[in-house]
Amino acid sequence: MADAASGVLRGAGVSPGVGAGPVRSIAGAVPEPPAGSRHGGDAAAERDAALGALEAVAADLEERGTRAAEVGNPVGEEVLNAQALMARDPGLADEVRARIEGGTTAARAVYEAFGVYRDLLAGAGEYMAARVADLDNIRDRAVARLLGLPMPGVPESDGGDEPFVLVARDLAPADTAVLDPAQVVAFVTEEGGPTSHTAILARTMGVPAVVALPGATELADGTRVLVDGAAGTVKVDPSGAEVAAARAAVAARASVLDGATGPGATKDGHRVPLLANVGGPKDVEAALANGAEGVGLYRTEFLFLDRATPPSDAEQEEAYRAVLEAFPEGRVVVRTLDAGADKPLAFLPAPGEEPNPALGERGLRMMRRHPDVLAAQLAALSRAAAGLTVKLQVMAPMVTDAAEAAYFAAACREAGIAHPGVMIEVPAAALRARDLAPEVEFFSLGTNDLTQYTCAADRQVGGLAHLQDPWQPAVLDLVAPAADAGVPCGVCGEAAADPALACVLVGLGVTSLSMSAPSLPLVRAALARHTLDQCRRAAAAARAARTAGQAHEAARDHLPGLAELGA
Ligand code: PEP
Ligand code: MG
Repeated sequence: MADAASGVLRGAGVSPGVGAGPVRSIAGAVPEPPAGSRHGGDAAAERDAALGALEAVAADLEERGTRAAEVGNPVGEEVLNAQALMARDPGLADEVRARIEGGTTAARAVYEAFGVYRDLLAGAGEYMAARVADLDNIRDRAVARLLGLPMPGVPESDGGDEPFVLVARDLAPADTAVLDPAQVVAFVTEEGGPTSHTAILARTMGVPAVVALPGATELADGTRVLVDGAAGTVKVDPSGAEVAAARAAVAARASVLDGATGPGATKDGHRVPLLANVGGPKDVEAALANGAEGVGLYRTEFLFLDRATPPSDAEQEEAYRAVLEAFPEGRVVVRTLDAGADKPLAFLPAPGEEPNPALGERGLRMMRRHPDVLAAQLAALSRAAAGLTVKLQVMAPMVTDAAEAAYFAAACREAGIAHPGVMIEVPAAALRARDLAPEVEFFSLGTNDLTQYTCAADRQVGGLAHLQDPWQPAVLDLVAPAADAGVPCGVCGEAAADPALACVLVGLGVTSLSMSAPSLPLVRAALARHTLDQCRRAAAAARAARTAGQAHEAARDHLPGLAELGA
């Protein structure tokens, strides 16, 4: 929504902080070279141009892969190297040559040759279909080179550039693999809800972000904007004074937070361990730097995105041990592979066409189809923890009922995992939490999915951001029975990172909070400013409200300490 008079655009603020700079957008689509385009007869020159463009794209992807590794993103490196291999595929080159010999231009021949593979992939199950986007990206890069058009994808910083605000329709994990946080001062996307992976990535990188901003992609490159990731606003052409004031407000908040160290607790000493969400060993440093008492969610599938083959036992063990070793006196909650829907894994394809992947075979449902993969992961975890003092807890995603909880607990026992748990992210599991509780040692509320399923609002659809709001009283009504079911119940969804909601969750009986590391200091400070009783009153007021907005407002009335945090 735009407030035309003030030049302020409004979306959903998903990662706090302010960033000001010129807009740089992900270039728009590369046009299809017209069908039937014929070259002038010099087939050899066309062929050299086409194969040269493919090689240049491959080399560029590899180079970006190396840079991804340098900025601490080995998964990104793998994705980009896999794309480089696709560009160098000999079968693809043969298809291109054959078309050029037949008189087709280099650009059209490349376009059509990719089309052959595209059709094969599109018909080969959900995961493969998802890879079509990768293929299109490589094709568009090669065609853009041949036609002299701007390269699609994330703009490449050349080091000397002024840091920029990255604007896109949405950001795919592969798009963001090479992003250098020093070059990107903020993200703004048109799509993506508050719990989309763009939002999670932004918080993990500590980059301010606004998602679900209508008209974001209409912002012209070079336009100067001021992004406020807490308020969810983008101010076009801000004055120097406005930028300075926004920065001063953030700096003031940072200085208040400087004193927020130590274990999580309310003002009256009620302990609430504050844990970090991590996607692999690369996130450990930030977790420790922000005082995480352990890990509350290790998203193990992030290690293996875009891998065609299952990771080896030794590889898994190493990736788990690297995180476990970092918290000798804490706990690490590892989630078994959450494959499917928004996190497709190549080596675990969906069993067939799924019209609604979020309601399909994902998480534990997928693992029950592949018990060998689950057993191998649990065994690797058990070996990784051997001889370490850390408390290893292992949980399954997307659990629906007591039978599934029992299945998972038995698989854990078999592998020698002593502390099994389940995520509560399906409304059925929340409503009947008392049935699940006897089967496991702990719960962890996945409020991203719980909100998606409670409000029937796909978390990847930007237009539904207002419904993907964990402040919805119905979501709070589902948190309450889970927190009251007789086993420790943490929260590891993004709701835990909202300082006001964190207090409400504690008031509802939640026993630990886990979030992207940069969010920890503010939540720690918010808890430290309120008593358990204030949190309980805030929770009761929020549940008594009729809308998400009213719930938020009602809770804040009982949380006076938030104001001094600027939260
Ligand atoms: C959740 O659903 O809240 C959660 C923590 O898991 P993910 O975001 O990885 O689905
Ligand atoms: Mg989830």
